[in-house]
Amino acid sequence: MTYVVTENCIRCKFMDCVEVCPVDCFYEGENMLVIHPDECIDCGVCEPECPAEAILPDTEEAAEKFLELNREYSETWPNITQKGEAPADSEEWDGKPNKYPEEFSPKPGGQV
Ligand code: SF4
Ligand code: SF4
Repeated sequence: MTYVVTENCIRCKFMDCVEVCPVDCFYEGENMLVIHPDECIDCGVCEPECPAEAILPDTEEAAEKFLELNREYSETWPNITQKGEAPADSEEWDGKPNKYPEEFSPKPGGQV
């Protein structure tokens, strides 16, 4: 089992999750984060920290379709361990539908 970052992280990216992860298994894309499924120890502490409620255990149906995306991009995106600056319009995007087909960026993120 692992925890999975799902669609509502896209363009929200508040990053409260990365600060609490004991094994630093979050990876940063241009407009969302993912969890490395083999590094996550299933502690669950990140789940309630996410204001967008985007982190789910992989036992939830909504997480299943994002599991492969988390695996794929955690192999190439950079590791992130500290909260960066959330986009100025984060809150406007919270809860919007169809963010994955319309807004997902496969580009890596980068913290200064
Ligand atoms: S706190 Fe939630 S929305 Fe923010 S970066 Fe983490 S998973 Fe994404
Ligand atoms: S469940 Fe625990 S180990 Fe997995 S990503 Fe969240 S904080 Fe990190």
